[in-house]
Amino acid sequence: MEKIIIANFKMNLTKEEILSYIENVKKIDNNRFIVCPTSIYVSLFLDEKYSIGLQNICEYNKGAYTGEISASQASSMGIKYVIVGHSERRHVYNETIESITKKINEVTSNNMTAIICDGELEEERKNNKTKEVLMKQLVSLKERENDNIIIAYEPVWAIGTSLTPTNEDILEATEVIKKESLKYGLNNVPVLYGGSVNLNNIEELNKVENVDGFLIGGCSLKPENMLKIVEVTKK
Ligand code: PEP
Repeated sequence: MEKIIIANFKMNLTKEEILSYIENVKKIDNNRFIVCPTSIYVSLFLDEKYSIGLQNICEYNKGAYTGEISASQASSMGIKYVIVGHSERRHVYNETIESITKKINEVTSNNMTAIICDGELEEERKNNKTKEVLMKQLVSLKERENDNIIIAYEPVWAIGTSLTPTNEDILEATEVIKKESLKYGLNNVPVLYGGSVNLNNIEELNKVENVDGFLIGGCSLKPENMLKIVEVTKK
């Protein structure tokens, strides 16, 4: 099965850069390639053959929530995926497990797939708390509407730092996630790895069994990188 490759642009790229990006990834050969641009640019992507995701969603359905986007609005635009609980949302915007749970429910009940990020802080890894943290964050799976879920193992200390866990550590974490997901009735949930994936390490990271794809931030900003990553992950 093709690997799932997700590009998370975060708050990067201008309109001109986005237009050039779209031209350059037209030849990407992967049916499970998902681009998550900054939300104001979403409509620029809608005619492309790959899928589009949002980077965040409101936990409420509609109403007086200035600056927010609801799941029903996203779905009405043809969006199929939403990243929920990215570490920058958890740790910079202090999102709680309760609000992430509501967001997953909103996304799945509006016929979209939630891409849930799950990962430990450096301190938590040092104190051997990785497994506990991964399991705790997955409590958010309990109120979903259906099984439209992808989980990304994203150690917080590896995001945007050029640091990566060993392949053994990734295997261990993804096994914890798969096992824990089963308790919530999720069989065969795709589990990705994310955190400083780049052209130098993708070949090695691609060897980890059990990893169904990659969520990529910084390196995804250049279309030529994504073309190469898609090629490598076919092997
Ligand atoms: C991310 O934003 O989820 C991410 C993995 O970023 P980076 O690839 O830049 O570490």
